[in-house]
Formats: sequence, C-alpha cells, structure tokens
Amino acid sequence: MMRVLKYVKTHIFFILIAIGLLFAQANLELSLPDYMSDIVDKGIQQGGIEYAVPIAIRQSKMENIFVFVAPENQTKVLSDYRLVTENSSDYQELTDSYPILQNESIYLLNENVKKKTLEEYEGILINAIVTSTVFEQIATNNSQVVNATEIYEMLGIDPSTLPPGTSLFDVVKTLPLEQRLLISSAIANKFKETGEMMLKQVAIFVVRAEYEIIGIDTDKIQLMYILKAGALMLGVTLLSVLCVIGVGYIASKTSAGIARNIRSDLFEKVENFSRSEFDTFSTASLITRSTNDVTQIQTVTFMIIRMVFYAPILGVGAIIHALAKSKNMWWLIGVAVALLMILIIIIFLVAVPKFKLLQKLTDRINRVARENLSGILVIRAFNREKYEEKRFDVENRDLTAVSLFVNRLLVILMPFMMLVMNGMMISIIWIGAHQVSDGAMQVGDMMAFMQYAMQIVISFLMLTMMFIILPRAVVSAKRINEVLITEPRIEDPEQPKKFPEPFQGKVEFSNVCFRYPGAKKCAVENVTFTANPGETVAFIGPTGSGKSTIVNLIPRFYDVTEGTIKIDGIDIREVTQHDLRDKIGFVPQKTTLFSGTIESNLRFADENATEETLYEALEIAQAIDFVKSKPKGLKTEIAQKGANVSGGQKQRLAIARALVKRAPIYIFDDSFSALDFKTESRLRKALREKTGKSTVFLVSQRISTIKNSDLIIVLDGGKIIGKGTHEELMETCEMYRSIATSQLELEELK
Ligand code: ADP
Ligand code: MG
Repeated sequence: MMRVLKYVKTHIFFILIAIGLLFAQANLELSLPDYMSDIVDKGIQQGGIEYAVPIAIRQSKMENIFVFVAPENQTKVLSDYRLVTENSSDYQELTDSYPILQNESIYLLNENVKKKTLEEYEGILINAIVTSTVFEQIATNNSQVVNATEIYEMLGIDPSTLPPGTSLFDVVKTLPLEQRLLISSAIANKFKETGEMMLKQVAIFVVRAEYEIIGIDTDKIQLMYILKAGALMLGVTLLSVLCVIGVGYIASKTSAGIARNIRSDLFEKVENFSRSEFDTFSTASLITRSTNDVTQIQTVTFMIIRMVFYAPILGVGAIIHALAKSKNMWWLIGVAVALLMILIIIIFLVAVPKFKLLQKLTDRINRVARENLSGILVIRAFNREKYEEKRFDVENRDLTAVSLFVNRLLVILMPFMMLVMNGMMISIIWIGAHQVSDGAMQVGDMMAFMQYAMQIVISFLMLTMMFIILPRAVVSAKRINEVLITEPRIEDPEQPKKFPEPFQGKVEFSNVCFRYPGAKKCAVENVTFTANPGETVAFIGPTGSGKSTIVNLIPRFYDVTEGTIKIDGIDIREVTQHDLRDKIGFVPQKTTLFSGTIESNLRFADENATEETLYEALEIAQAIDFVKSKPKGLKTEIAQKGANVSGGQKQRLAIARALVKRAPIYIFDDSFSALDFKTESRLRKALREKTGKSTVFLVSQRISTIKNSDLIIVLDGGKIIGKGTHEELMETCEMYRSIATSQLELEELK
C-alpha cells in the first residue's frame, strides 16, 4: 500500500490545489441555501427590506420612536442620518423621490452604512419602533396589531381618567426615561409572547408602512432585492461550476498520471522478470494486475479527490450553517444519519463478502473464456463443445446469481435511503412549521435548514460509499505491490566481468543441478560436460528428461541451483545478462513470432542487419523458397503469435531469426521437429557450413538430427546416462541404442 502511495507524492501540489478548490466549492454551495432563505424571508416576507433601520423616515415619526431611545443612542443613530428640510440644497430633487417632503421634513439614512452598524442601530431601534407605533395606533384608535385595553392594564392607567384631548402617548412622553424604556421592553415582550411574528418583522412592517407614507415605491425595493439575491445566486452557482470543473480536471489528470506511472513501473518490472517470476505470477494475472487493478486505483484516486476530500468539508460546513439556522432541530439530522449508517453497515456486512466473491468469479469466467477461445480448435477436434459449454454455463450461472444478489441488495438500499431522507425532511417541515407559526423561525430559514440537512446526509453517504469502494482498491494496490516488490531472482552482478577477447564460445557445465522454484525434485542433476568452440553438442532423451531445462540454463533464463556453468572460463553469473545473451542465438522449443512483417521479425535479432544477412539466414533456415513465393517477400505480414504461417514455416523463421544474430553460440531446442526429413537434412548441412565456428547445442528426439554431433548426451529423468559420439553410444548406451534402432529402421523405410 505504501508503495502505491508513493505515486501520489509527485502529484501532491495539484492535489493541494484541488483541496483548495473543494473548499471554495463547499463554501459556495453552502451559501446558496442562505441566499434562498434571504429571498424568502427578506425578499418576500419583509418586502425586500433587510434591516429595521429606515432609509428615509419622517422627522415626526423619528421623534416618536426616540421617545423610547436613550439620548446617547439617539445621537449615535442620528450620526448616520441627515435631516432634509425645505432649506436643503437638494430639496427639489429629493421631493421627486420622497413626495412627503412637500409637507414635512424627513431624515435620510447616509449611503454605504456598514452592515455591522445597521445591525447595531437595528438593536437600538426595534423595540422603540414597535412601541411608538403601538401608542400611535392607540391614539388614533386604529390598533390592528395591539389590544389597547391590554396596554392600559399593563400601565395601570384607566383611559377614562385621561384629560380630554390628551392621548396615552402624550402621558407616556412625560414619564422619566427609565420608565419609558421599561414600557418599551414590556410591550416588546408582549409581542414576543403572542408569537404571531418575530419582533423584527413587526418593526420592518412598520418601516414599510412608513415608506408608503413617504411615497417610496416599495414594490420596486422588493423587486430589486429579489433580483439582486437571484443574480448573486446565479453568480455563486457559476463560480461553483468552475470549481467543480477545476477539481474534475485535476482529479482526472492526477489519477490518470498515477495510473500511467504505476503501469509503466509495472511493465518495466515485468520486463526484468526471469522465468521463475513468470512461473510465480501467471501471464494472465500479470495482465490483470497492470490493467484492471491499475484502473481500479485510478478510479479510486479520482473518487478520493472528488468525494473523500469533499465530504468532510461539505459536512462540517453544512453542520455549522444548519446550527446557525436552527439550534433545536439538529437531532433530526443526527437520527437520520444514524439510521442511514445502520442501514449501510448492514448492507456492508452482507454485500462486501459478495463483492469479493464477484471478483473471484469474474476472474474465473475470464479464465474459462480465455481457455476456450484460445483452444477452440482443440475443443472442436475432440468434440468437446458441449462439455465446454456446460463448464462455461456453470461459471456464468454462478456469476449471474451473485451479481443479481448484489444488485438486488443495492436496489433495496435505495428506497430505504429515500425513506429515511424524506422522513427527515417531513419531520423538519413538521417541527419547523410549528416554530414558524410560533414566530421562533422564519420560513426561509427552515427551507435553508432542510437543504443543509440534506447536504450533511449526502456527505455522510459519500464517505460511506468510499468505505465500500476502498477495500477493493486496497486489494488492487496489494496485487500491484506484490509485483512491484518482487525482485527478479536473476540479477546482474554489481561488478560485472567481461568475456575475454576474442570470444571463443567454450561452454563448460560442471556438476550442474537445477530445481524449479517450488519443485521438490531437481529437474536435472549432476550435469557435467564441455562444449568446445565449433563443436556441436546434442541432447537426446524422452520427454521430460530435462533437455530443455539444461539449454535454458545457458542464457540464464534460470540460475543453476548447484554447480557452475562457465563460458570461456567465466561463470555466466559474473557477466551481465545482456553480454551473455548477446553471444547466444536461441531458438526455443515453443517458437514465438511477433506481429509485424517477416523482416521485422528477423531484425529482432539485429536491427542493423543487412538485407544480405537476412537472405542468408533465410537460406540456411530453408525458408528462402517460402519467403520468395510470397508476393510481398520480406514484407509479408505476420499476424500476432505468427498465426498466419504454418508450424514448420514458423520454426524456420525462428531459426532464421537466430541466425541473423551471427552468434558464437547457437541453441536449437527441438527446433527441427516440424520439418520433414529432407528439409531438415538440408538445413543441417547448411548450418554446419555456415556456423562452422560457432558452438551449437541441439535438442532433438531424432537420431538422424544429432547423429553427426561431436558430443551426444543421453538424458533420462534429469540424469546423464550416456555421453559420447554416435558410434560410442551405440556401443555403450542401451537406451541410445534402442532409440536409434527403432528410428533408423523407420527412416530407412521412407
Ligand atoms: P524435456 O525438454 O526434456 O522434454 P523439460 O526440461 O522441459 O523436459 O522438463 C524437465 C522436467 O522439469 C519435467 O519433469 C517438467 O515437468 C519439469 N518442468 C519443466 N518446466 C517447468 C517449470 N516451469 N516449472 C516446474 N517444473 C518444470
Ligand atoms: Mg523440451
């Protein structure tokens, strides 16, 4: 896991930018419900008036209000107002906007008064505005909002005792300041108790009425406010879209970059794997690891940047905002989140094992499908279609059953989640509606609270989704890691030696034993022989006797378990693999051609080979006629794995490829098996002539192929049971003799 994390490091800068953008995005998204609540509360309900601080007010009204304001506060508030009278220089212009000026002086609020100051003035004025209005209404017997008798009772005054022509307000005005303030707060409390509306809303109601008296277009104020808030919302949304795009861009770039780096490291690692490592990881699994598993990491990285980082930012922000909107409904969110968590944990416990199973079954069906497709000819030849279909069907059914189960589970999850979330919404509306009707909350705030609640729930869901996806990514990371930490068993020495010049090609095996990794028994034991430059050494023996194993040791596809192999007196483990393999032309038992042309395949051995060399190699390999018969000659296309040439042609091209290398050592592992006797004998003759100076290793089942070799080694069960020339072995080696007699008779029959 740590090793995979290392790949994140190089992208840390971009990830930090992404986190910054996520913060911005969260802030923008969290501000939207606030704007919406503003539109509802201030735009619609308060007629677009934000503060209970009038922008314009009649002088007489202001004086009435100031009855309930301490003198020092009066001075403070007035510092931001100016009195407009007939004598003011801009009297004429102002009369257009404030028609009342024709009859009365008005106070105008200075422009650009800070929010904070407005809030402070509002605190000073609210009670006074409400109280003064109550008394004005009593005086004019126009009390819609208040019950006059109640006020008389509260003040302990009998209205009939008032001298005629004096109103209650006149009496109140003469009281000492402390008493006036007490009356004011008592009346304010009365309003709070009735709870029809919030006190501030009452005050704003009064301000609005005042505007109408002055002649200000209140509809316009409202419209402007809503338009302004709407435009702000649009702007915020646009900005947040930009953030989303930015984060998406960085997330894709980062995750794709990480995937690219992992893939290339994997590929580089696998390139250096020796055969042992390929035996440990199957080719198929290496492919899945460098494609599927890497994609998995890529997806999860993307989601981590987009969601895992975002969820807590959004969640915490939404909690803070929600608490600011309402302090007594948070438990609803808590209950919803808890219910969802329980739901998800249950699903998690049931589904995760199935997810793992799903992965396994997918692997299995892949394997069956691959085997079937690549072995389709064999399957047909043996009439096994029905059997294979059944085999596939079983796997397919298993996979279908499990994926159906998982999908059903996830489908059930959805309505339950919706139930919980909608339940939460309804509860918020239920409780919120009561609070609104009690005047404890505004409608817009309740709506905003609902949205915040939703955001909190969603951020929790995002986090939990991650916990479902993360384990899969961890598995993938582990599988990738396994490959990355595997050190190739065959490594170059730290201080490699060089072969002495000129290179001879003398190969000495002394007491070589080799055991395949994981195998109990040695595949070959005590192999000792010397191949001198220019000599041909042949290996013969039944299948599985260790012939291929021995020749694979020469290019160090595997390292010997015991003993040594020396070339020109130097242990092959002391030179670099490159230097060693540079000297060897190898034709493996299982020939492989690559997609491309005949030429590109031949040049695999030596990019700079002349055309002459290519033709010569083809000639020795007896492939020249076949290549020349093709209309495109050397440019004839070769399909993947050489599928469009016959087995014998493939072998000949593989032999030619090795010959292009003009190596001092050649290894032919059963490379003539697909050739007919005549072609083979011509090929051998040409080989002998052209590769006279090279050391040649021949593996074959045919006596005729190896008869003329300088040294023949007879193997059985990994042990040398005979060593010598054909003639010597005919004398001394029982097994050789029996192979020889059976085959030579056959050959003579032809
Ligand atoms: P030959 O080429 O003579 O037919 P091999 O050298 O291919 O025989 O195999 C010798 C023995 O080593 C056989 O018993 C075979 O099962 C075993 N063997 C071959 N390749 C591997 C491998 N990659 N892993 C484990 N055992 C192997
Ligand atoms: Mg073999």
